[in-house]
Amino acid sequence: MASITQIPDEQAVLRTRDLSVYYGESRAVRDISIAIPANQAIAFIGPSGCGKSTLLRCFNRMNDLVPGARIEGEVTYRGPNLYAPGVDPVEVRRRIGMVFQKPNPFPKSIYENIAFGPRINGYRGDMDALVERSLRQAALWDEVKDRLDSSALALSGGQQQRLCIARALAVEPEIVLMDEPASALDPIATQKIEDLIYHLKQDYTVIIVTHNMQQAARVSDMTAFLYMGELVEYGPTQGLFTSPREERTEAYITGRFG
Ligand code: ADP
Repeated sequence: MASITQIPDEQAVLRTRDLSVYYGESRAVRDISIAIPANQAIAFIGPSGCGKSTLLRCFNRMNDLVPGARIEGEVTYRGPNLYAPGVDPVEVRRRIGMVFQKPNPFPKSIYENIAFGPRINGYRGDMDALVERSLRQAALWDEVKDRLDSSALALSGGQQQRLCIARALAVEPEIVLMDEPASALDPIATQKIEDLIYHLKQDYTVIIVTHNMQQAARVSDMTAFLYMGELVEYGPTQGLFTSPREERTEAYITGRFG
């Protein structure tokens, strides 16, 4: 395993140690040890099928929901193992939220999409204020403030994706995982999501899976390059793109395979 950037424990919000993920007999993630620093944007890049989404899903136990998936090794969140007996995966997913490739709003009003999560978590504060704050954080408030009771499904794809981000933020997570959040969107909507990621990292840690290297270079502080289930290289984004240490990274970022 080559060149893992050393991040001290106190700065790492998430960490894996010798993490492998299997689907049945086949191993999709191979012995990955990686530390995720707080309040940064981290991009996972690599060719399709290299294990980016599988690794991402380990951070909030979404692979628990995939039949036949099992993990070996450790994933820790601020110290404790996320997979220890007694850890409630629902609570894990509240603190470590997720946004998917295809926007998936509930078939409810804009307001209810945001209020739903906090309500089932027993939120007792001012719901109107929480809805507004979440929509503002996702840079959607100005576009929807006069139609909060309209169906979320009437929004454009880009607006729906920002709504899903607002929905993830409404339950006050610490980390937001994004799996190709802009790949179904047009360039303008994509740019809005990228701007948003840039702002979100002031308050959250954001991990984004992308097959788009330019996007990784634009939004992330740290980049991890995966290839065939292995973490080939991980480090500050600018360095990884301008002077990669590994030949496989260089081959990928210069377009020799992908
Ligand atoms: P990436 O996100 O880099 O495209 P994935 O994590 O989706 O890669 O996939 C890594 C490997 O795991 C691929 O070989 C893929 O076919 C396999 N895989 C992903 N999800 C499943 C699943 N639900 N069941 C079986 N195999 C899967």
